[in-house]
Amino acid sequence: MDDHNLYGALRGGFPHDLDRLAIETDTGLAYSWRDIDRASAMLANLLVSLDLAPGSRVAVHTEKSVEALLLYLATLRAGFVYLPLNAAYRRAELEYFVDDAEPAVLVCAPRDFGWVAKLAFQRGVKNVFTLGEARDGSLLERAAQMPDRFEAVPRASSDLAAILYTSGTTGRSKGAMLSHGNLLSNARTLKSYWDWRSDDVLIHALPIFHVHGLFVAAHGALLNGSPMLWLAKFDPRAVLERLPRATVFMGVPTLYVRLLQEPGLTREACSRMRLFVSGSAPLLIETFRAWQERTGHTILERYGMSETVMLTSNPCRDQDDPQRIGRVGGTVGRPLPGVQLRVRDGERDLAPGEIGDVQVKGPNVFAGYWRMPQKTAEEFTADGWFKTGDVGRFDEHGYLTIVGRSKDLIITGGYNVYPAEVEGFLNEQPGVEESAVIAVPHADFGEAVVAVVIERRGAKLDEAALIASLKQHIAGFKVPKRVIVASELPRNAMGKVQKAALREQHRALFA
Ligand code: AMP
Repeated sequence: MDDHNLYGALRGGFPHDLDRLAIETDTGLAYSWRDIDRASAMLANLLVSLDLAPGSRVAVHTEKSVEALLLYLATLRAGFVYLPLNAAYRRAELEYFVDDAEPAVLVCAPRDFGWVAKLAFQRGVKNVFTLGEARDGSLLERAAQMPDRFEAVPRASSDLAAILYTSGTTGRSKGAMLSHGNLLSNARTLKSYWDWRSDDVLIHALPIFHVHGLFVAAHGALLNGSPMLWLAKFDPRAVLERLPRATVFMGVPTLYVRLLQEPGLTREACSRMRLFVSGSAPLLIETFRAWQERTGHTILERYGMSETVMLTSNPCRDQDDPQRIGRVGGTVGRPLPGVQLRVRDGERDLAPGEIGDVQVKGPNVFAGYWRMPQKTAEEFTADGWFKTGDVGRFDEHGYLTIVGRSKDLIITGGYNVYPAEVEGFLNEQPGVEESAVIAVPHADFGEAVVAVVIERRGAKLDEAALIASLKQHIAGFKVPKRVIVASELPRNAMGKVQKAALREQHRALFA
């Protein structure tokens, strides 16, 4: 069997001189490439010493730490399946994931050991370790006794590497099964499309239980042998301090909004930077423009999901973007090399400008949902394309714009309303900071369009005036029946607005 172990490929990207800096943490620790290789070997030896069955899941419910990343690499090396879980999950959530994934190993924060160990042992998980933010806990104690060399276990490209549970804003969270081949193909594509260079330095400020921080950001730096300036948590000042030493930053839109609130964000502070990447949620055009104005840099927006890793990206090299569309904003770019994307209405491929369902095919597309063959079958078309659940349109240059999730589509009096379009107009109204448009049950219309808006600081919004103003810009059926002023929008850890929560909150508005 040809070896496709992802760790082997990442290891091949490490620099020649293994004593160079690989990761510098916000607590002042420095890890060399040799440290990464040795520590992940010790952890891999520990996993193998546990006599786990092939394909065993290693579930990790800890705060972000370099050691958690090393455990991920160790799991790849040893040929097991990594399962990262947001440390914010509490008992009921963890019970669901443990029941569903049946991990053989569960690693938790030392402070959670009492309740997590009980829950795990009740469910037959034999190995429970702890890993704290200060490199404390039983996992590292046990690994310290292990040899620091490990030959990566050969893997086929289709062998499972990780399971990522989707954020699950509606219904049960599903485990997306990603293979060594899925992850490696995407990492290689991004390395060349984003033009990773030998002198690149990444600021790593994202969580590592999600595709963005664990795969896009960490794989990028590891495969390119580039150092990471590692922040356990996002802190705008800490990012600013590191900008002069860095060249690449990746964030969700909220991180860009928070950085823009810092007076220290200037052209000068960003003068060494090469690439600012945004994704995981829609980037407001206002943020995109404000960033260009303040820093002179264009945020590169890309689009992806747990099931497919990255799908599209704006180009970062001028030669890839002769029309300079990436500099104007409002799109998530073109399908990445090797990724096929189509916009469909039922059985029909749509022309540029027409809005429909975004579907994908490619080496990056996952193998299916963990133990949900029925659900998996439903999410693929008969001819093998994965239905992303996103709705979008291509422009005539092949750039995609995401209009929303198909679940968020509003059908009011028989007309389709795409929330993103209405939000775009609302956000341009004076005094509106941002908005979320949702469907609320309505006796006459079936669903009524409702907007929840956040006021700009110092502004006073008037519902009737906003509605009157919108009527001048868009068709009457798209204009919200009600505009509710709120102090904040509910978001998940990746900055995505939780529309299901908003719909639930305002369900009885017209009852
Ligand atoms: P997740 O699996 O948690 O990464 O969520 C994936 C979903 O996030 C996608 O299906 C999109 O709905 C959304 N998403 C990711 N990137 C973008 C983007 N650049 N613009 C708009 N939505 C995005």
